[in-house]
Amino acid sequence: MADTIFSGSGKGRNRYRAGDSSIQYKDIRHLVPKQLLRTETAGLPHLSESEVVRHFTSMARKNYGVDDGIYPLGSCTMKYNPKINERIAGHPSFLRIHPYQRESDVQGTLKVMFELGEMLKQITGLDAVSLQPSAGAHGEFAGLLMARKYYDLKGESRKLVIIPDSAHGTNFSSASMAGFEVIEVRSKRDGTIDLDLLQEIVGKHAADIALVMITNPNTLGIFERDILAISDLMHKNGSLQYYDGANLNAIIGAARPGDMGFDIVHLNLHKTFSAPHGGGGPGAGPVLVRDYLKGFLPLPVIGKEGERYYLDEDAENTIGRMKSFYGNFSVCLKAYCYLLSVGDRLKDISIDANLNANYLKKKLGRLFDIPYGKNTMHEFVMSARKYREQGGTALNIAKRLIDYGIHPPTVYFPAIVEEAMMVEPTETESIESLDKLVDTFKCIVKEIKTDSRLLEDAPSEAHVKRVDELRALKEPVLKES
Ligand SMILES: *Cc1c(COP(=O)(O)O)cnc(C)c1O
Repeated sequence: MADTIFSGSGKGRNRYRAGDSSIQYKDIRHLVPKQLLRTETAGLPHLSESEVVRHFTSMARKNYGVDDGIYPLGSCTMKYNPKINERIAGHPSFLRIHPYQRESDVQGTLKVMFELGEMLKQITGLDAVSLQPSAGAHGEFAGLLMARKYYDLKGESRKLVIIPDSAHGTNFSSASMAGFEVIEVRSKRDGTIDLDLLQEIVGKHAADIALVMITNPNTLGIFERDILAISDLMHKNGSLQYYDGANLNAIIGAARPGDMGFDIVHLNLHKTFSAPHGGGGPGAGPVLVRDYLKGFLPLPVIGKEGERYYLDEDAENTIGRMKSFYGNFSVCLKAYCYLLSVGDRLKDISIDANLNANYLKKKLGRLFDIPYGKNTMHEFVMSARKYREQGGTALNIAKRLIDYGIHPPTVYFPAIVEEAMMVEPTETESIESLDKLVDTFKCIVKEIKTDSRLLEDAPSEAHVKRVDELRALKEPVLKES
């Protein structure tokens, strides 16, 4: 385990201070209300500046991120994010605004949010937006709460949500959290939704079905070609259609959820729209809806009257707030900058995302089975089942990739593929980096055949060796003893 910053601490080491001030602590003591003054010294480590810098530099080297190399984590869209957007989001004029500032003083900020919303409306083909939710799952939850309120007001007690078995786990939990019951539908052999089965379910439960949640392309990377028929079926039944738009980079600029008949959409700004993620946030999961659901959106939404922007706090049927204040503004700002810089080349994002994934699929398909390999778009799922007996499980392969300095793909998801490895290279990788990934997989497959212990002991090069994942889940120890 790495040393903490406290282990290097020693009295007297922090003698050097940048810009030693002529104002002494005792001089300003009386300015601080008595009850706020410390009675004991803070338990800070004693280190010199150079020791602090070295500590954090060494910590940073132990990390792996998109700035180090390819990060083909399927469904997560771990892509390179232009640094200029970080610079802008870190500008003091954005950083130092206070949430209680008067509307007239933050017109520029409101304008950014308003215009981002307008762009997202255009991109999705929906009519209204709220930037409030902080993540994909949070957006799903907001969407489902809106659906619930919509039916409540109509006096309908629809309690069922249909979700395909390939869907992201958050879909199931969001539906349950919003008080719905879930019907999981089996995918067809080609990995898409089974329309006949769906018809059967609708026939059986008709007036109980609130909505269907669909990811399109789904998590196998396959576009649901029956989407218009599904939409028809749901709407004729008086049900709503929900779009999980976490991975919009698959279709952005080329197709719109609104044109596919969806009523509610969430997007992950931290996946598709250039906000880094993976360290636990912050993220943003805006929700978009059709006109007739506008009044249900979480507040505030940003309005515009003439040249003035304002916070609209009083939609009649709103589900309320999803969090304090106005959403994760800095994430929205990065997405706004990204979209402005991409401009009318939006479609290139999805073209490149699909091209990269299909290039990899073709090459890795020679090493692994790809059970649902037809018509995949931005990602695909391959199976290591033929190597399982020899020790080449998806988990062992993933751990061995770490030894080669590459972040593993998503494993064991979706559950409908055995020994699943879900690969999403994203649009920002070069052909050289894709080839390097393929070569690494080739080396590992060779090792499975010659010396599979290398896989079973992996990672041997990383700072943290193989962890007991089950125990970590059941007895998480989040601090050093
Ligand atoms: C990532 C993801 C989500 C959840 O997004 P979070 O921001 O992690 O809550 C939902 N659906 C799909 C398809 C995803 O890839």
